[in-house]
Amino acid sequence: MNFNRAVIKVGSALVSPENKGCSGKYLLAIARFITECQQAGKEIILVSSGSVAAGRQLIKHGSPIPSIPTKQAMASVGQMKMMANWQRFFDVPCSQLLITHGDLKDRQRYINIKNTLRILLENGVIPIVNENDTVATDELKVGDNDNLAALVALVSEADCLFILSDIDGVYDQDPRDNPKAKLIPEINEITAEIYAMAGTTQNVIATGGMKTKIQAAEKAVENGIDTYILNGSRSNIFEKLLKGENPGTYFKAKQAANKARKHWLKYILKSSGQVKLDAGAVNAVINKGASVLPSGVNQVVGNFVAGESVDIINANTQQVIAKGICQYSKQDLLRIMGSNSDEIIALLGCCPSKVIIHRDDLVIL
Ligand code: GLU
Repeated sequence: MNFNRAVIKVGSALVSPENKGCSGKYLLAIARFITECQQAGKEIILVSSGSVAAGRQLIKHGSPIPSIPTKQAMASVGQMKMMANWQRFFDVPCSQLLITHGDLKDRQRYINIKNTLRILLENGVIPIVNENDTVATDELKVGDNDNLAALVALVSEADCLFILSDIDGVYDQDPRDNPKAKLIPEINEITAEIYAMAGTTQNVIATGGMKTKIQAAEKAVENGIDTYILNGSRSNIFEKLLKGENPGTYFKAKQAANKARKHWLKYILKSSGQVKLDAGAVNAVINKGASVLPSGVNQVVGNFVAGESVDIINANTQQVIAKGICQYSKQDLLRIMGSNSDEIIALLGCCPSKVIIHRDDLVIL
């Protein structure tokens, strides 16, 4: 398998197959696959649906289509069941992250999510992400976990996305009506025709259907993330994946993930300020692959909040040497510049990060 870090999205139809609460029926094979990936040195983040389905029987509803608050209550109680269900398949710890679109759009929260995921993975934990259904009103909602999974793949800098449901992949015609419908093994260009083939959702438990899976694939491949749409109810697909075969529909990334990310940092993200470094810090960043520490900063220019991008300048030559995402706002940076990382807590009363710009969030120019 040709990836280092993957996001695996698991649909409600796999978590709660008969809509009768959580089940281990399909999750066991998925969990075994995750464990094998981890043993091969790969990092995995799960995006799991199923909280509403898992909590459905525990909240009175009386209608096949419950109201939004009723569904939110189902999600709230079901989330606990769903997490406990996942944890029983792993020896390593699982962690829960509930996020909304609003969180991903906000620079400060985006960087918080990124930092949390980074530390969880460094510690061998399996992060399990779901939409925060309690607060996710329409404008806050990603709306479906397929698109959420693509955004999580971006924020976590994954290089592969697996979207697992109970559908084999993308067919050229609707397989429910056409026995001759053929599975498309590889899609290199996502066109209107591909969306037309996707049709509408097939499963009453699932919210997304094929359209949102293709939207997610589109987001991912544009950003250098290989994507697979697979049938997670067939346990043999995991053996095939482990052998390097493609058991569903594969969307090839347009370019390597690190290249796409560097491009995004370099050309797309606008700098909101400048952080000027002394000679030692310049040398550490350029020649030693180091992060930017507060001790090396001797001037801050512009106005920015945490999570925004800044130019990194050699204070002696005034040359721009790099660009990166700053963990601190200008105001906070002014208070901690020149100090050691261990002094941040005394100066600010808290320490959101020991580094000013993490190496992974920086591109040398
Ligand atoms: N967040 C919802 C749940 O956990 C699912 C949304 C989706 O499947 O797209 O039930």
